Amino acid sequence: MIDAPKAKRRQWRKKRGDAMQQMQSGVLDHLPLKERWSREGKPEAKRKKLKPLTENFEQKEKGLVLSVHRRSCQVRLQSGKEIKAFYLAKSVDEAKEFPAVGDFALVGKSESGSENFIIGLEPRKSVLTRPGPRTRENQALVQAANIDQVAIVMSLENPSFNFGFADRFLLATNFNGLPFILILNKCDLMKKIPTEIQEFIELADNTILTSAEQDTGIEELKEKLRDRISVFSGQSGVGKSSLINLLVPNASLNVAEVRKKDGKGRHTTVASAYLNLPQGGAVIDTPGIRALGIMDLTTDELARCFPGFFESDIFDCKFKDCKHQSEPDCAVLRRIDEGLISEARYRSYLRILGGLG
Ligand code: GDP
Ligand code: ZN
Repeated sequence: MIDAPKAKRRQWRKKRGDAMQQMQSGVLDHLPLKERWSREGKPEAKRKKLKPLTENFEQKEKGLVLSVHRRSCQVRLQSGKEIKAFYLAKSVDEAKEFPAVGDFALVGKSESGSENFIIGLEPRKSVLTRPGPRTRENQALVQAANIDQVAIVMSLENPSFNFGFADRFLLATNFNGLPFILILNKCDLMKKIPTEIQEFIELADNTILTSAEQDTGIEELKEKLRDRISVFSGQSGVGKSSLINLLVPNASLNVAEVRKKDGKGRHTTVASAYLNLPQGGAVIDTPGIRALGIMDLTTDELARCFPGFFESDIFDCKFKDCKHQSEPDCAVLRRIDEGLISEARYRSYLRILGGLG
């Protein structure tokens, strides 16, 4: 080791660093640390070939991922049992992805039977990701998998309608090609919907007016959620917990439990919940999804890929860095004049652009 040329030593150090980094990222390897480092220190050709992961486990069972944490996730097995399953470096490498809420995963039991590991993920029907470029391998970018629609809860008043929040969610669902439902709660507090909100409503695939307080619109909401997997989001105070309690009769039990434990108030309650609806379907609400509103886009990227601005996504403004504000020969401004892009949609774009600034 001491005689080894500098370059070689550097290489070894890097490999150790890589293994360390992987461990710190919250992923476990099924091999003991010592064995792992000695394997990773060897050149590719001399490394002992590993058996495919599934062969390491005799007992395997499929399950639904209910919530994800740094090192493990909560899985509901087909038998109905809920267990904690750890991630393995190899399964994350193979799937190029961490498990996400809503994933169907294959879970393996360790030989002693005391621990469970995620050994594979089934292909996803749909995903909800944050708009933006993928920066690192294996980054947990998928916020939810196998969902049918995204529902955002907004209140008309107290707190007032937050356009910025709604725009960002609309953009994220558009990016992922998912339907967008707008739930306008607290409709008891306002007699007439202001024009600006009315315009926003036109951008949603579905809008439902509700009042959790007066039990208005709840039946209609139940219909829209029936037999579908819906991601639910909304800012604190809009009445999301109140609505969920009306939709899922036993949800309040879970809510109270968590609340007592961490004493962090209502919002953490529904944190990482995959709630089954009595009429079929489920509602997902996790803190990660609330962060979906925060995106990784530059103004250039936003201007080039805002959904619905360009036909077949072919950018046809005169200037490559056109932000569609007052530039000459702007294809977006022309389409607005021609009535092909709505004013509401354009305003939604400007609000996000302003926020990225
Ligand atoms: P969350 O933070 O989104 O989960 O909101 P909560 O469900 O905790 O509700 C926040 C506050 O708004 C509570 O005081 C509720 O009683 C109230 N609230 C919820 N829904 C309605 C509604 O439809 N109308 C009115 N007037 N108040 C509501
Ligand atoms: Zn333009």
